[in-house]
Amino acid sequence: MTTSLTIALSKGRIFKETLPLLAHAGIVPVDDPEKSRKLILDTNHDDVKLVIIRASDVPTYVEYGAADLGVAGKDVLMEHGGEGLYEPLDLNIARCRLMVAGPRGIEEPAGRMKIATKFVNSTRRYYADLGKQVEIIKLYGSMELAPLVGLADRIVDLVDTGNTLTANGLEPLEHIADISSRLVVNKASMKMKHARVQSFIDHIAEAVEKNRKD
Ligand code: AMP
Repeated sequence: MTTSLTIALSKGRIFKETLPLLAHAGIVPVDDPEKSRKLILDTNHDDVKLVIIRASDVPTYVEYGAADLGVAGKDVLMEHGGEGLYEPLDLNIARCRLMVAGPRGIEEPAGRMKIATKFVNSTRRYYADLGKQVEIIKLYGSMELAPLVGLADRIVDLVDTGNTLTANGLEPLEHIADISSRLVVNKASMKMKHARVQSFIDHIAEAVEKNRKD
């Protein structure tokens, strides 16, 4: 009997950087998700499928077992809470930092600061740990705009090169967490499909180790 595997991935950077890791595990998608509108991609193995979903939905698909495995950024997992999932492997890809940023050269305002972010839970936890009372304003994108138009004093966002902040007159101020993509596994799949899932994890781990050395 063969054991099928469904792997949840998001388009873009995570997909591109995960492809070589999958190839090391002998898995090659038949379609290119950037060109295809298909949400379920076949691979060179009849029993391995890729589901292409929004990055922030990956933990949910894996938690509920709609996918056995998935690749999700630590930022997304921190927001989700990580319940119901195993996180066996840091893939060391799509690396960046979750940071507080604000207008360059402007001191922290007195009183309760307004913080714009899509990372509401991580931001709430960060300021709670500091013992600071802040007002969190939920946005879905372009956080850099918020301080420029007086919507917020600070933002919490992902920073890679820092170019987006600089281009908008902002500077990184406080480091919240180092971010990279993680392999996540449904808890039931880990038990019921143990040999197949463990062999997949081992192959991916080998590829990650090889990347680290190159
Ligand atoms: P940068 O200008 O290189 O600092 O990139 C910052 C912009 O890219 C911000 O809008 C971030 O939200 C986004 N970004 C940077 N790194 C990542 C990542 N690993 N995953 C998702 N978005 C990212």
